[in-house]
Amino acid sequence: LVPIIVHIFVTQSTPYTSLPSVVLVGPPGAGKTALLTLLERGDAAISTHTSQVPQSIELTVSVDQHLSFREAVKDDAPGEHKKFLLVDTPGHGKLRNFAMDSLVAREGLKGIVFMLDAATLDENLAATANYLYEVLLALQKRVSSVKTSKTPSAINVLIAANKSDLFTALPATLVKSNLEAELGRIRKSRSKGLLASGVGIDDVDNGENDDWLGEYGSEKFTFGQMQEFNLEVDIVGGSVTEGKVDKWWHWVSERL
Ligand code: GDP
Repeated sequence: LVPIIVHIFVTQSTPYTSLPSVVLVGPPGAGKTALLTLLERGDAAISTHTSQVPQSIELTVSVDQHLSFREAVKDDAPGEHKKFLLVDTPGHGKLRNFAMDSLVAREGLKGIVFMLDAATLDENLAATANYLYEVLLALQKRVSSVKTSKTPSAINVLIAANKSDLFTALPATLVKSNLEAELGRIRKSRSKGLLASGVGIDDVDNGENDDWLGEYGSEKFTFGQMQEFNLEVDIVGGSVTEGKVDKWWHWVSERL
């Protein structure tokens, strides 16, 4: 019953299916609600509560890379204007796995912003990487499960390393290397589980091992391996609290 309910929530909250959309995911506490609030009202100082269902906000972007997000969202901003939906998702473990497939299958999906708390990544590395693994795997399957020669259009992922204002925050380069190492560990342990469950190596070679992320059989996982699946992953730091979100904003505008 639970997956059905989640699906209805996701469907009901997206009445404007014709608009391009960018989906915001990530573990609880990363700053997703704060970012939505900042982009919608230009103010992150409003207290947030844990979001239980996906919420969409409609935003207008002026496609001009020189504008800050505050300038770009104005009605009279120069340049071409584009509307898009920024879709928030529940961060709770039980909901997110069910929500992932329907999010990835969204019509008009242009990008996924995976937000994390760079200041507590050390403590939350395993949980954060597990979540990211699910996101990337869902996107990988979207491409690898296609039987025809028509590859689905590219969907790019931005890893938004939030809370750079805190002194414990890891810089984007370290966020990247830590996540790559952890995703590699997850990949290895999942494939062991698969082999232990009686799936032979031949089945694996025949594409039965659809839990393996990235280049099959490679020793180390790198985000670059996702390019084979028409997926580009970028890692960019920022701070919602300090209003340092322009690089993320530009990344989103470029994908619309
Ligand atoms: P969500 O669960 O991902 O929606 O996270 P929230 O938006 O509720 O944020 C969780 C907590 O982190 C809140 O107390 C926010 O005020 C705080 N927070 C969000 N962004 C930042 C940031 O850039 N820097 C700092 N220091 N705190 C932040």
